Amino acid sequence: MRSSSARAGTDGATAQPPAAGATETPEQIRRLAARAWLEMDSLGVLPTPQHFEIWYTHLCGSSPELSRRLATLLAGDSSPTAAELAVLHAECIGPELDVDAVGDRIDAIQQAADAMVEQINGNGRTLNAYGAVLSVVADRLGQDTSMEGLLRAVEMLTTETVRASERNRLLEQQLAASASRICTLRRSLAEVRQEATTDGLTGLSNRRAFDARLRRALVARNRPEGYPVSLLLLDVDHFKQFNDVHGHKVGDLVLRLVGRLLAQSVKGRDTAARYGGEEFAVILAGADLRAASIVAEQIRAALDGKRLVNKGSGEGLGSVTVSIGVAEAGRNEHASSLLERADAALYRAKHAGRNMVCVDEGVGRGEDAAAGPGDPGRRVAAV
Ligand code: GH3
Ligand code: MG
Ligand code: MG
Repeated sequence: MRSSSARAGTDGATAQPPAAGATETPEQIRRLAARAWLEMDSLGVLPTPQHFEIWYTHLCGSSPELSRRLATLLAGDSSPTAAELAVLHAECIGPELDVDAVGDRIDAIQQAADAMVEQINGNGRTLNAYGAVLSVVADRLGQDTSMEGLLRAVEMLTTETVRASERNRLLEQQLAASASRICTLRRSLAEVRQEATTDGLTGLSNRRAFDARLRRALVARNRPEGYPVSLLLLDVDHFKQFNDVHGHKVGDLVLRLVGRLLAQSVKGRDTAARYGGEEFAVILAGADLRAASIVAEQIRAALDGKRLVNKGSGEGLGSVTVSIGVAEAGRNEHASSLLERADAALYRAKHAGRNMVCVDEGVGRGEDAAAGPGDPGRRVAAV
């Protein structure tokens, strides 16, 4: 086993601060950073920003899960590899803007809001009950006229009852207003989440959501029980020309049509996204290269077979086609590398004549080589 501080939070930092760097003093931050640097150096771990973040997070104790998993990695005979550390980073720290994580947080806020509404309703009921009991006592005392003192008590109680019941009413109004504000907040949070992850024109996932989902899919793919993950990159052919002939608005309708087709072509854990402009991307979870190339060919053929008509004018618009690049993720392959391979395949599809699917055969650059895609369709080419 290699030496490292397997324990977190041992350098004067708070045991479990909410986030690395959030609660430490400048002096503690300096000490933790120096220690992180020294440990990485002694273990022969490259001091990249990502690795530094892992060690810093570990040393300040802000993620017990990360510390536990890092200790497991360090218990081996050799230093953790860059790939192992990348997985650790992705799973325990994650990208800076991880829409799914933001979504999780919003869910937590929603749950808290639910709990508050419930509490407020409960308080309202309790206060009502208190007012009712007080009223009963006041009634009874009011009927007992035998003693002076009792009469004074009756007056007091009556006054208190009136006051309490007014306070109760006021409080109930305030509570009702708070409950309504919380409900509005909850609705707007759900809308924010939807807007942050959705492309406005097509309703598909936007680029930001796509990037996050792809990283997640690759992390899941690298687990021992992981499933294959493939990527399709699609680009509408000669779309500039289409816009020039039929106008940008009609072009937008075509992009929506492509969006609908992609949404219909994916299921479950898959993600269809507008990658930008007239480019789209599909993450197929559980599909190897062959399965992915079949899906790609189905999408290509479905679009090729559609004769477009402008509903407003009845004008025939011909057809629109797409070129598609397909690649399957290799073990421990990074998103950027997978995107590059799918993009290179797309580029070849364009140059081979467009309206075509091209498949990148280099699964994970030699690791995990899968069976070739065969020729599931008329216009599928392995390159
Ligand atoms: P290629 O087959 O090589 O992909 O040719 P292309 O004309 O599709 O490619 P190019 O990159 O030259 O042009 C892309 C066009 O897509 C230009 C741009 O106006 C259009 N476009 C991008 N985003 C939108 C959009 O949101 N709506 C519309 N209508 N057009 C868009
Ligand atoms: Mg393009
Ligand atoms: Mg194009």
